[in-house]
This record gives sequence, structure tokens and C-alpha cells, in this order.
Amino acid sequence: MRVRRASGGREGELVRRASRLRDSVEPLVPKLARDCPPERFDRLRRDLEEVREARDDQHRLDRMRRWGEPIPRAYAGLLRFYLEPELPALIVARYPAGEISYAPLSKASREAEVAVQNSDDPTRLLLGYLDWARKGFHFFATDDVLYCTGSDPAPPEEFRTRQLAHLPYRLQTAPEGRALDCPHLAPGSHVPFLEVDWTGAQTRVRLCRRCAKSDRHLLADLSSNAAIPDPESAFRVTVSLNAQCDSAPDCPHRHLPGLSRGVTKRYHFGKLSDREVLDEYVAGVLPLFERSRSPIFVSEGNCFGPDRKRFIDSLEPTPEEQAALERVLPEVQGLFEVEEATASRALEKLWPDHAETIVQAIVPDPERASRLVKEARSAPGRVSELLHRAARATREREALDALPQYHGLVPEATFLDSIARAYRSQGARASEKLLLDRLPREGKQRGIAFGLLVVLGKESAHLWQFTDTEQNFGRSLVPWIGPVLKAPPEEYHAALDRVLGAAGVAEWGTPL
Ligand SMILES: [Zn+2]
Ligand SMILES: [Zn+2]
Repeated sequence: MRVRRASGGREGELVRRASRLRDSVEPLVPKLARDCPPERFDRLRRDLEEVREARDDQHRLDRMRRWGEPIPRAYAGLLRFYLEPELPALIVARYPAGEISYAPLSKASREAEVAVQNSDDPTRLLLGYLDWARKGFHFFATDDVLYCTGSDPAPPEEFRTRQLAHLPYRLQTAPEGRALDCPHLAPGSHVPFLEVDWTGAQTRVRLCRRCAKSDRHLLADLSSNAAIPDPESAFRVTVSLNAQCDSAPDCPHRHLPGLSRGVTKRYHFGKLSDREVLDEYVAGVLPLFERSRSPIFVSEGNCFGPDRKRFIDSLEPTPEEQAALERVLPEVQGLFEVEEATASRALEKLWPDHAETIVQAIVPDPERASRLVKEARSAPGRVSELLHRAARATREREALDALPQYHGLVPEATFLDSIARAYRSQGARASEKLLLDRLPREGKQRGIAFGLLVVLGKESAHLWQFTDTEQNFGRSLVPWIGPVLKAPPEEYHAALDRVLGAAGVAEWGTPL
């Protein structure tokens, strides 16, 4: 608590509030719900009226502000101040919702002083009734009204709506009626969640781990502006891994413990945030999985137990990703879980410990494999992309390795052979580019080049580069050029020979 001098404005404001309360005690008394027994409040009202009747009697007010129930006592203090408005030093009280300053005008508790001096704010008036709540009454403050529902934990609908509207989370109404979920908890999704079940309001709220914030407290947000006898049973906190497990009955998923008493308490007392309570739970159950002797594969909350094949299928891998996963997963022990059911996520997770195995599954040449791993480590990117590139490089290499090698090739043969190899290993676009790069100014290669462009379906953009003679010559070769690009490797030599023969190049080279 801190003490500071009152300002004139503050003093005037308090006088105005006191003046209103000289007319009526009603602003100090909560609005009672239909089933709330009125006796205690009638008694309170009588006590307050007694103070009000003495509103011009300094001596009686002096006595009344020293004795009796806290709220009438604080009320007597405020009315006494009205008669002689000299403000003592203000005291600043700290509450979870912020600081509130008040003037010590009586011998009542600070809650009663704050409540009476701020009776136009229901959330502050509520503070005066905290000890009533301890005795079994339920209070709910909206922006305009302080309600009491007596022993009934069900809040007025107006209060429930207000609390839910002010939550710092994006939520949607779940199919089962009075339930609100974050968008990631649609039916069929199996991500861990924190649940606060507001039993009195028959309303539950669930947040996934992604949404749960490390500086927010769902329970506090729901229960703020309420004073109730037993918050722990009125707001039930649970946490669930929410996994879908149809694996063996001894899978730890089948025997998960609930949130421990200690962690629950720490959350209730605000020592753990939404995110922290979820993290704490997940970290707490992890050892159960790690102790398991057989591997446990989980993708996006779907548990496949030790069934590697179904797990890999669930990740919908490309052929190279599948090869990598099949090679590396047998080395994995205990729990292997990916939050997103994609092969690339799984491989990224495996990469730090299993990079060599992953790459070797796709690149058979050990030297190239270790070079790739080194490259990837120095410039980390997406593992799947790397694998994809590596697989492509491997396919290219295999396509080239299958073709015969030559020596003593004449320029026409070198030209045709190099374009064909580019086409077979890197595709149409790469071969077209190479063709244009290597196109000589004269010679039979130009006719061969035009024939190749026709087969590739790209001649129209390049007509201007070729004479009529070159174009006619090229077109005449077209029937034989297709097989050079597409025939199986064992027919490659014959295909080359036919094109070059038709072009009038008889001696063109010898296979190695
Ligand atoms: Zn979420
Ligand atoms: Zn399981």
C-alpha cells in the first residue's frame, strides 16, 4: 500500500458520490436474482437505512463508522466525510484487475471502503461482498449491475455473455451447444487442449496449445468480476492430449493420468498461464511414452503405435520421402510424434540425428551423399526440397549412366548427343536452352537443330534464325529424331546412327 495526498478533484468527486448515497442506500445493495433469499440483504438494508437517517448527525456517524458491519461502517464514514469534506491521505490498494485508491474514512476493511466509495462501479462494489461470498453467496458484476444469486452458482445470462465476449481468444461455438472451442479443435482434430468447465454456467471453453497464450489466464478471465464460495469446483480445469489411439491396449495413451493436484492448484492461483499449464502437462506425460519398449508413431494426434507402415502412409510421402522414412524410422526408439501429418515435417524432425541415413536412402553414391549432407548443414533449408533435388539429380545421373559413351565424335554427333542427353536428364526446357547456346553459325548442326526444335514443338519462335534450306533439311530429319530423345537406352546408338546417316554423316564416332 502506498499513501498519497488527495487532489481537489478527487475530493469533489467523493463528495458527489456521498451526496448520491445520502438520498438512497440502494446503490450499495446488489440486485437479487429470483431465487436468492432476501433476508440477509433486508438486514443489511435496515442497517444502511439507520446510517442514512443519521446523515446529518456528526456524533452518531462518528460512532457508526467505528462499529458494526463493514459496509454500513464504511457508509457512515463516507456520510461523515460529506459533512466535513477534508480528505485524508489516499491509500492505493492493489488488486488483480489493477490499482484502486480509496480514503480511509472509517474503521471498516479496505474492501468495504473501496466498495462504498465506488458504488457506481459494480466490479468495485463487488469487493465489499467478498466475505459474503466466502459464506456461500454468489455475486456477479456486469458493467451496470451487481447481481447476487444466493447459493445458486448459475450466473445471470447477461453476465455469462459479457464474460465470454471479453475473452482474449478467437473461439467458435462447438457443436455440443454451450461450448466454445478454438478453431483448431474442430471434430476429428486431435491436438492437446486446455479446458475450463464453468459448471455454474454450463459452459466449457477449450484452447489448443497453439492458441493458449503464455501471458493469459482463461480461468481468471472467465471468473473475473465474480465472487463465489468455491472457485475450484465452480471452474473445473482439465488438460487432455486428445490423441486418437487405436493401437495396442498397453499404449500409454490408454492410461493417461489427469492434471495433477499440484499443477491444478498452481493454475488456479494464477502461477501458471494457459500455455504453461498445457506445456507442463504434456511434459509430465512424455516420460510414459519414452519408457515404452516399442516405438510409438503419432501424426497429428493419431497414434499408430509401432505400426510404421500406417504411420508413413498417413504422411502421404513422395516416393523419395517414403524411401527416406522407410530407411530411417527403424532406427527411431520411443515416441516419434509430428504435429502436422506431412512427410516433410517428419523428415525435418529426423534430420538433425539422421541426416546421413536420410540422404543415403535417395543418393546411392556415398561420396555424393556425404557432400549433400555437408552442403545442407551449411545452408539449412527444407529437408524435403533437398531430398527432392537429390532424387532428381539421382534420376538424371541414372538416365545418363544408361546411355553408351563415345570417343572421336564429329561435331554433328557431339551436338546431337549433348542435346539428347540434356533432354533425357533435365527435360525439354533444358535441352532447348542448350541447343540455342550451342547453335553454330553454319554447318549441318543447324539443320539437325531445327529438326530437334520441331520435335520439341518449339520451332515457331525460332524460324527467323534458320534459312529455308536449314528448315527443310531439319524437317526431313524429324521422323528419326524422336527416338534419339525417347527410345530406351539400348536403342540409343541405333537412333543416333539413323539421324546422322540421314544427314549424310557416315563416320561419326565409336562407342567406348
Ligand atoms: Zn487453437
Ligand atoms: Zn497410442
